[in-house]
Amino acid sequence: MSQSLIDHRGPQFAALLREVLGGLKRVFQTSSGEIILNPGSGTGAWESCVVNTLSPGDRVLGCINGHFSTRFCDTASAHGVDVQRLEAPYGVGVPADRVEAQLRADSQRRIKAVLVLHNETSTGVMTDIAAIRQALDRADHPALLLVDVVSSLASIDFRFDEWRVDVALTGPQKGLMLPPGMAILAVSPRALNAHQSAKCARYFWDWAPIFERNARGEFPYTPATALIFGLRESLAMLEEEGLDNVFSRHARLAETCRRAVKAMGLKLLARNIDESSNTLTAVCLPDGFDSDAYLAHSQRTLELPLGPGLGEVKGKIFRIGHLGNLNELELLGALAGVEMTLSSFGVAVPLGAGLVAAETYLLQTAPDGLGHGR
Ligand code: PLP
Repeated sequence: MSQSLIDHRGPQFAALLREVLGGLKRVFQTSSGEIILNPGSGTGAWESCVVNTLSPGDRVLGCINGHFSTRFCDTASAHGVDVQRLEAPYGVGVPADRVEAQLRADSQRRIKAVLVLHNETSTGVMTDIAAIRQALDRADHPALLLVDVVSSLASIDFRFDEWRVDVALTGPQKGLMLPPGMAILAVSPRALNAHQSAKCARYFWDWAPIFERNARGEFPYTPATALIFGLRESLAMLEEEGLDNVFSRHARLAETCRRAVKAMGLKLLARNIDESSNTLTAVCLPDGFDSDAYLAHSQRTLELPLGPGLGEVKGKIFRIGHLGNLNELELLGALAGVEMTLSSFGVAVPLGAGLVAAETYLLQTAPDGLGHGR
């Protein structure tokens, strides 16, 4: 990324753009979808998705099971979209049977889209998107399927074409292992069709000029060239490791983390093990402890940055991230830090218990002796 920048209207840039758009398609597991790459962030990607597929007054089914799914729906509301809220508790995935029931009840077919997160980063819970697709199919409902994959893409198996997703959106700073600064979307032919009639006001986010100029190897504005250099490298890293290996590395490290947390005597926020996220673990602190104060303590004492509780679970949980360019030793270091800082914060944690559980599992599942994960 720190190489000299190139002319973003020149032939070298055109070749770079072609290469990264192709690589992103492989990561989204799509051949029918098109890629949109904007400067921005995940929040910008929500907005890009909403304003390009919907019109003010449209109704959508908003699946809400945490803080980020709430904000995805808030983005739609901010553009005058009528959000029919399907709420599930923090700690569980979106139940496909409830999605199906609400779609079946929509006899006039007023619901234009279903908004859902593949991985709710505030709770460490995954939703089964294949099951949501089946819910749409069983209800024989034409709504678009709009999926946030910010904390799952390139870490947890996500199949754009197979699950017939219409828009999948992300940022670069999680599974793509880059600094923040882009909004990245895959869009289906059906979403492109919806874009033709969508009436939400848009200019910067408008897909039409982006497709038109991308076809000529450029952008309608100044692109984030350095990030695109980085993207080329992160896509090469993912291809070198192989997506399936990337997914199993994340699954193995996530299970290691969950076992360690349980061995420390703490509870996971995720209620069902098969919905537990493979990219982060949300941990409940025992009653009487404030997790915001604990985070300040872990930062001050060991410079250990953990994620805070957000929304309804503010002050009650903390989150351990385990995604991207991560290996066994890095995770073990973080787990050791969690044990030490919890203990010095006053939580009764048997020192070393989490590490024993983690090391045991890593050795048991080591693919080649010590288990080089990459
Ligand atoms: N969606 C999810 C699932 C997220 O985890 C986040 C941020 O962490 C966002 C959207 C918002 O992304 P950003 O902070 O890049 O705007």
